[in-house]
Amino acid sequence: MPERHTLELTGRASSATVRPRALRGRTAGRHAPVRIGGLPITAATLAEAADHMVEAALAARRRPGRPLYVTSANGQVIALCHQDRAVRDLFLAADVIHADGQPMVFASKILCARPLPERVATTDLVHDVMRRSGAAGLRHFLLGARPEVNERAVEHLRHAYPDVPEIAGHHGYFRPAEEDAVLDAIERFRPDVLWVALGVPLEQRFVMRNRERLASVGVIKTSGGLFDFLSHAKSRAPRFVQDVGLEWAWRLAQEPRRLGWRYLTTNPLAAWLLLSRSGD
Ligand code: UDP
Repeated sequence: MPERHTLELTGRASSATVRPRALRGRTAGRHAPVRIGGLPITAATLAEAADHMVEAALAARRRPGRPLYVTSANGQVIALCHQDRAVRDLFLAADVIHADGQPMVFASKILCARPLPERVATTDLVHDVMRRSGAAGLRHFLLGARPEVNERAVEHLRHAYPDVPEIAGHHGYFRPAEEDAVLDAIERFRPDVLWVALGVPLEQRFVMRNRERLASVGVIKTSGGLFDFLSHAKSRAPRFVQDVGLEWAWRLAQEPRRLGWRYLTTNPLAAWLLLSRSGD
């Protein structure tokens, strides 16, 4: 299937045509990636990231093909990619990797000639994309989380953004034998943006397994625990806690049993990788 990733990034000094893969590498420029913790991270603001997704989704309507694959990394992902080559390949296959962790932004400010402008958390990005989706007429599909959480997340977005034409969803606890039916439902809905929230690395595997088949989708964004936050099943850290890079500690305090061991083992490795594998 032909690649279909040429798009205009509007509102910039240079309105040259930019290929998303170039966002990760070959063409230098404001959005070229920087190496953070060993991964190529796109240097974009939240607003630029949202513009990019909307423009890619609109471009995809004109030229259907393989959807744009946008994912995000944080300290846990950086550690996991270091430990597991297969997981690393899932991330390197993405067209865009955003920095969903304030410590990554701090590391880039110390170690990179061209630091990341800001954190691009999916929990913020979703609102920037939704705010643009009414005027753009974009349709959204939310895949993932427990059924009641998924339903509440869909309801929340419909209520918050009534001008967005259509928002639908499906829970993320289907059996492998049911995946075909889930893909059929997504294809019938023809979303411009598909938010896949199954956790790392399930969601990245889902994208790689099904990207070619989901040709009617414009953009796929992996979303981790996004729907748990949208549905208010979990609460986000206060802004000042996020800003000092301690959102992980807030999550740990909320779910010590589930996250304690994970953070104990991955945080020191992530810190070392951030300090030793960042820089242009
Ligand atoms: N999830 C899912 N299907 C699965 C496993 C997880 O839909 O088979 C959802 C889960 O309900 C949650 C999201 O994926 O909404 C993120 O999962 P988790 O909290 O384990 O990941 P984390 O954000 O902690 O990395």
